[in-house]
Amino acid sequence: MIVDSVIVNAKAYLEGQIVNCCIALEEGKITKIGKETNMPQADEKTDLHNLLVLPGLIDEHVHLRDEGRAYKEDFASGTAASAAGGFTTVLDMPNNDPVTMSATTLQKRMDVASRRIIVNVGFYSEFPKTIPEISDIVEAGAVGFKFFMGTQVGGENVDDDEAIKEAVKEVAKLKAPLSVHAEDRAMLAVNEGKLKQAKKNSLTEFLRAHTENVEVNAIKRLLEASEGTDARLHFCHVTSKGALDTIAQAKKSEQKVSCEVTPNHLLLTSDDVARIGSMAIMAPPLRDRTHLDALWKGIGNGVIDTVGSDHAPHTLEEKNASSIWDVKVGVPGLETTLPLMMTLVRQKRLCIDQVVNLLAEKPAEIFGLTDRGRLGQGKNADLTVVDYNSQFKIDPSKFKSKAKFSPYNGWEVYGKPAKTIVNGQMVFSDGEIVAKGGVGLVVRRDEA
Ligand SMILES: [Zn+2]
Repeated sequence: MIVDSVIVNAKAYLEGQIVNCCIALEEGKITKIGKETNMPQADEKTDLHNLLVLPGLIDEHVHLRDEGRAYKEDFASGTAASAAGGFTTVLDMPNNDPVTMSATTLQKRMDVASRRIIVNVGFYSEFPKTIPEISDIVEAGAVGFKFFMGTQVGGENVDDDEAIKEAVKEVAKLKAPLSVHAEDRAMLAVNEGKLKQAKKNSLTEFLRAHTENVEVNAIKRLLEASEGTDARLHFCHVTSKGALDTIAQAKKSEQKVSCEVTPNHLLLTSDDVARIGSMAIMAPPLRDRTHLDALWKGIGNGVIDTVGSDHAPHTLEEKNASSIWDVKVGVPGLETTLPLMMTLVRQKRLCIDQVVNLLAEKPAEIFGLTDRGRLGQGKNADLTVVDYNSQFKIDPSKFKSKAKFSPYNGWEVYGKPAKTIVNGQMVFSDGEIVAKGGVGLVVRRDEA
């Protein structure tokens, strides 16, 4: 048998160990892992010269934009950024133009994406306008639902707990995961109203509006709304001690609860906002050191399940708006997350098992992507190759993303993404995108 390709001289992360091995790839799958003498003949051979091979990383929290917001990012630039950052599968958020919140808008998005993507992409939907549409959306292949509680994005009234309960019940019945942006819209509006009236427009006021209580209250409301259902709740970008305490408590109950943290909230605090400026504005916001310490504790004791980049591209003009209330929230993260995490490994603040668990194994498990997230015979041939020893400076002007800014501008980091292999095909190699759109697949919920 002659396979498509064989990778030689890899240091691969296999079930908790780093093993010197070769990997055979055929029709998008890993067909063999072993010694070179045991490898089948191949059309192509790639020598990795002992670079580290991780299971293809999964970023469960990405805003690829496109359609009406293609000026910020599109499927080509967003998946190029994914490949360049070592991500082989990303999950796309629904706050688009138009909002992904029906089988029709979802299908349209999948169609537009399918010819342009170079990594695998799964799509979230927001809650639709009516409950029966939820099953249509699941049938159309959404990987899960995303519920924005801080602003009205989808079809369900974010202030109406009874309506939310009905939607959660239906999503639970269909066994679709529900990811949540937990900030309470009404509380935010009151806080913002007061600050605006007092003409408080500086960067620090943002934190005064997006308080810990705003986050905790939203989490509590959703936990209550999903009580007694079989809902699979995943709280996105948790940022506060109170949020983690509430989630830790819920994890002790019958409820299926998990949560995500972004690298931003593990590495930056509210003190950095003064230095970095509006490029560090995100929601929920950067908080003080007490909260950062609580998040690290959550990594250590396993209350935090995943790391998501929350890649949120905007134009520089949008980020530089003169009033804080007009600044678009979020920062790009696809091209900084892996090197930042590998740098933490080098600093011995994380171990490699945690990085693989947070960025591959757990997201695959939570979103039911059973053939992804681990290296092994029969698994998808999604591989992230890292040059563990190479040190470099983060330079946003070189990003493949359209959003050429970062709160990490100039940071010295270790662990350069060297090559990215998606469905058995090399898509990124030594700084260059080497594949055409369409190599990536649309990942559907029924893959599981
Ligand atoms: Zn987001």
